[in-house]
Amino acid sequence: MSNVIDNRPGVYAEASQSGNFARRTTAEWQALDAAHHIHPFSDMGSLNKSGSRVITKAEGVYLWDSEGNKIIDGMAGLWCVNVGYGRKELAEVAYKQMLELPYYNTFFKTTHPPVIELSNLLAEVSPKGFEHFFYCNSGSEGNDTVLRIVHQYWAAVGKPAKKYVISRKNGYHGSTIAGGSLGGMGYMHEQMPSQVGNIVHINQPYWFGEGEDLTPEEFGLKRAQELEAKILELGAENVAAFIGEPFQGAGGVIFPPSTYWPEIQRICRKYDILLCADEVIGGFGRTGEWFAHQHFGFEPDTITMAKGLTSGYVPMGAVGINRKVADALIAAGDFNHGLTYSGHPVAAAVAVANIKILREGGLIDNVKNVTGPYFQKSLREALDGNPLVGEIAGQGLVAGMQLTEDKATRKRFANGGDIGLQCRDHCFGNNLIMRATGDRMLLSPPLVITKSEIDELVSKAKYCLDLTAKELGML
Ligand SMILES: *Cc1c(COP(=O)(O)O)cnc(C)c1O
Repeated sequence: MSNVIDNRPGVYAEASQSGNFARRTTAEWQALDAAHHIHPFSDMGSLNKSGSRVITKAEGVYLWDSEGNKIIDGMAGLWCVNVGYGRKELAEVAYKQMLELPYYNTFFKTTHPPVIELSNLLAEVSPKGFEHFFYCNSGSEGNDTVLRIVHQYWAAVGKPAKKYVISRKNGYHGSTIAGGSLGGMGYMHEQMPSQVGNIVHINQPYWFGEGEDLTPEEFGLKRAQELEAKILELGAENVAAFIGEPFQGAGGVIFPPSTYWPEIQRICRKYDILLCADEVIGGFGRTGEWFAHQHFGFEPDTITMAKGLTSGYVPMGAVGINRKVADALIAAGDFNHGLTYSGHPVAAAVAVANIKILREGGLIDNVKNVTGPYFQKSLREALDGNPLVGEIAGQGLVAGMQLTEDKATRKRFANGGDIGLQCRDHCFGNNLIMRATGDRMLLSPPLVITKSEIDELVSKAKYCLDLTAKELGML
């Protein structure tokens, strides 16, 4: 502890309360971070100059930084801290599990109570027909696993030629090579000369930006029918699966028109194509249902889970597999896929405790009936008079706010991404975490948020959006 200065006054003194780490000043932390840490999805050259914000603790829906600022977390971390921060019961479960059985694998004819209990519990909370689960450590690995399952399924049923997977532009499926390939983020593909083959992308159901003069319902059908056209082009005998997020999260909280998913499902069934739902954000209560596809009324063959599965307390991902696919997989013999930490006992134990909080606390019903509607209504009322906000998409406790130059004609800014960042800077300065994705501002708070905390979140969001509109001369 020789390099630790314990007696300096100031807020940083409480930064490492747990005693796990030495106390340092913010500047010291920033310097060490810049010296040794490469951040995800970041421009390290410019970040190292400005310095990262050091987050030191959290409770409920609030974060604290090393300067003592209290910040309301409108994004639940990265869409994942569904049960809120500071849950002692999750910490205790992890602690006990680490002492009892911190690790054992499930590869070689072994299993353990946490993974057994988790699978049983997931079968209870998942939609009818989902009784089998495969585990991994993240959403990206979940989608890698989906790809492996899809290929194994078609091999097992004697149609190995079905190998193309269709996904959407501006979809997000993670950042492993397969996840990034399945996703439709052009800026990621540009840095990926090696992509997974046999993946093709169709257009997204983004009515505000791309619907032109069609009604949302017409546009939803049109974009779904691009799937049919692509299947016919590739030959249905060559197409294995379609994968999509029920609503696009990282792409900007884009909610498809109501006509979209029923048509996608019809087309998948007609051509015998697996329908894979990426529920990494939508799962575990975000829209007020256990899974977001239930909100949109379709029935997938696989469900990718991560984020809310453990509320981010420890990493874990999973794939739910419906009976049709699971039966084929089980009959097919060896499945040559697995991860050292598949079904990790500590993660599984935390997931069980997390799901019990979601279920026994009535949290998801509360999102559906109380806080979700209140959040959606408050946001719309607060932003009604701001011409910069062209559309608010969302359900439950997730929302995407479209920035627009002209609401009536749905005209988007040529430099929309810059305006999003301008707004995000105001959020940063006002101790609000609200994310910008291009020209859309996103909110996705912890599901435990109360009505009065929603009032605070919405009024801060309004303040920052109003400030941005004023700078643009729109208010
Ligand atoms: C976050 C996310 C992923 C990737 O999950 P990681 O845990 O970051 O690998 C995949 N799909 C969707 C829809 C996501 O939002």
